[in-house]
Amino acid sequence: MNRHLISAADLSRDDALLILDTADELARVSDRSIKKLPTLRGRTVVNLFFEDSTRTRISFEAAAKRLSADVINFSAKGSSVSKGESLKDTALTLQAMGADAVVIRHGASGAPHRLASWVDGSIVNAGDGTHEHPTQALLDAFTMRRRLSTLEGRRVTIVGDVLHSRVARSNVLLLRTLGAEVTLVAPPTLLPVTVESWPCEVSYDLDSVLPKSDVVMMLRVQTERMNAAFFPSAREYSRRYGLDRDRLAKMPEEAIVMHPGPMNRGMEIAADVADSARSTIVEQVANGVTIRMAVLYLLLGGETL
Ligand code: ASP
Repeated sequence: MNRHLISAADLSRDDALLILDTADELARVSDRSIKKLPTLRGRTVVNLFFEDSTRTRISFEAAAKRLSADVINFSAKGSSVSKGESLKDTALTLQAMGADAVVIRHGASGAPHRLASWVDGSIVNAGDGTHEHPTQALLDAFTMRRRLSTLEGRRVTIVGDVLHSRVARSNVLLLRTLGAEVTLVAPPTLLPVTVESWPCEVSYDLDSVLPKSDVVMMLRVQTERMNAAFFPSAREYSRRYGLDRDRLAKMPEEAIVMHPGPMNRGMEIAADVADSARSTIVEQVANGVTIRMAVLYLLLGGETL
């Protein structure tokens, strides 16, 4: 495996399966009343978050702590970054502190890649701009595999604001590596121009794709990244691309509903669908800790699992 995890494309099929299998083993630890392993004792993991996060930051922290690593949480607010310190100077500070792994979330696509050239430790991309979010794709694949037993030949439909979604890009790449067939469904305004080169199908008609889906992954409409009007109104968007009870009924009985969070309830997903038994949204959060444990364990070469 590579020393860093920056893109889902960095993972070969064997790497991805190794992470998923390791996570399966580690899930047993999460089920125990004492959830700690001594594996990364003496190692330092820095969480470097320049953008807001709830699930990802907390789960990387929980993952590192469950493996007994020392964790330093750094958020841009309240640090010298708000005084104008550059990413490079921040990186040199981390380097001086001897970070073994740096988990970075940044608003600029490519920031983790830059960071990798300045520090010696492993870099884990926890979301960079609209580019990638590889551990989200891994936890999604892990959730799908647990529910559907295999990903090979499974039909995964990803719906919504693909243009601004790092989750969509990482999922398309990883799911392809793992043998699933991906279809993106979005209004044309919310698809990147390069989508034709992505290894997936594209459709504008959600209702025709739902009956052929094993997984339907809804994406958040990312208004904070929108600088123009991408659709006429929230209501119009929900009418065409939102997942409500009627649409859920069109999916095969075994098919599952996913969402990376945070959700706009009532917009891309109806509240009763998000809370239904078909939804894996809460499971995805729990699986996030397990997957991040597996990633840190494998990147830092932990011993005694
Ligand atoms: N939490 C995910 C991300 O950071 C998805 C989202 O924000 O919509 O990319």
